[in-house]
Amino acid sequence: MLDNYNSPLNLRLIKKCPVCNTDYQQSMIQVLDESEFGVLTYATCDRCGANLLAKFASMPQGVIGNAILTDLKPQEVMDFATNESISDDDVLDMQYMIGKKELINSLKKLI
Ligand SMILES: [Zn+2]
Repeated sequence: MLDNYNSPLNLRLIKKCPVCNTDYQQSMIQVLDESEFGVLTYATCDRCGANLLAKFASMPQGVIGNAILTDLKPQEVMDFATNESISDDDVLDMQYMIGKKELINSLKKLI
């Protein structure tokens, strides 16, 4: 079922830059990550420099994908992708801080 998730066909779905409508050069598309959940790709437009981050997954119904424009570099994308998941306790801590109006002060300490 997932045998074709990393098919080059998926990369051909990334055709044109959504900003300037220039055709992507296939050599400008990098595969950042592959897993059983799909393929994460990063493409930079050689005309306007916009970066498109796209994820494709092969489902029984066919290939599905979503994409966003980003100003992150490929390494920054991977740094965020490998961070730990948000836990239930993290959400409760955040709610507590918002309730006590401590959230802004806590964020200032991180900067
Ligand atoms: Zn472009």
